[in-house]
Amino acid sequence: MARVYNFSAGPAVLPEEVLKKAASELVEYGTSGMSVMEMSHRSAEYMDLFYKAQDDLRKLMNIPNNYKILFLQGGASLQFSMVPLNLAVKTKKMDYVNTGVWSKKAIAEGKKFGTVNVVATSEDTTFNKIPKLDPARFTKDADYFYLVSNNTIYGTRFVDFPDTGSVPLIADMSSDILSRPVDVSKFGIIFAGAQKNIGPAGITVVIIREDLIGLVDDSIPTMLNYKTHVEGESMFNTPPTYSAYIAGLVFQKLINDGGLNAMQEYNQKKAKILYDYLDESKLFQATVEQEYRSLMNVPFVTGDEDMNARFIKEATTSGFVNLKGHRSVGGMRASIYNAMPLEGVAKLVEFMKGFEKNNA
Ligand SMILES: *Cc1c(COP(=O)(O)O)cnc(C)c1O
Repeated sequence: MARVYNFSAGPAVLPEEVLKKAASELVEYGTSGMSVMEMSHRSAEYMDLFYKAQDDLRKLMNIPNNYKILFLQGGASLQFSMVPLNLAVKTKKMDYVNTGVWSKKAIAEGKKFGTVNVVATSEDTTFNKIPKLDPARFTKDADYFYLVSNNTIYGTRFVDFPDTGSVPLIADMSSDILSRPVDVSKFGIIFAGAQKNIGPAGITVVIIREDLIGLVDDSIPTMLNYKTHVEGESMFNTPPTYSAYIAGLVFQKLINDGGLNAMQEYNQKKAKILYDYLDESKLFQATVEQEYRSLMNVPFVTGDEDMNARFIKEATTSGFVNLKGHRSVGGMRASIYNAMPLEGVAKLVEFMKGFEKNNA
């Protein structure tokens, strides 16, 4: 068996030890005589592991008791609609920061429910930074304020989060949840599709403050109402059972490895290896302003399309795969989520140095 270094933006690399543990339990979980995939979601055995996963996530992220954790389906993309459907109910005014593709998609959905105010955008510089936020432009009576904490495609991230006062702050953390500690109490809702930093696709984590549940009346579709899933304890209908099991194994591993402070330190160390090289290289350049560089997604270019293509091809042959940039930006992107070992980044940089030398 030969595992490659997988720099995919998502679905992405998972910790090898988690995959091995899952493999060892694939056919029979514990003494249940069956696979987790075959279990009733209402069985005691399954409910134990499902709610333990939620408890472990609460521990890891230090989620206060006045927040509910939901494991839903529909991906992060369904949250683009569920957030305004459930929250844009008083003034129907919503503030958004436009930092790229994922915020634009959310903005388009928000507009279906009321008045969207884009408080800041970095579109004029191809989203190579997080725009400066001017609180004077925030809508005082907005139903919520929305941002994307880490921009998977452009490789930028919010280092600090704005103070939005009594306006609930909503964050799409799909591509950097669990990569660093965040103060959950600053947020109204945090959501994340699992397939970047949590586990397999199919599960969406929603962390919601209790006072934001049930603001909308019950005439909205039942499955799209947060209240339904809070009351059903994420089991109103069948949850993505196997994805939740794997996510639980990932949470357990992160706890064993020292939690999110340790993870942040590791991620900083990892990203620094790559950024330091990009800053000294004469062939490759990072595309993002230093201050806003993501620790998870690192886009870079050579300025020459043929060179990019040749690099991606040779890298793939050498076991560094999925380095092609998003189709909307071109170039290269190395996604180095929690589960990418430091060794993988160090070896990639060694490979890049060799490539640069050969193409000088
Ligand atoms: C991947 C991604 C999404 C989309 O997630 P789906 O689960 O495919 O809907 C949304 N937001 C961000 C920041 C992402 O990285």
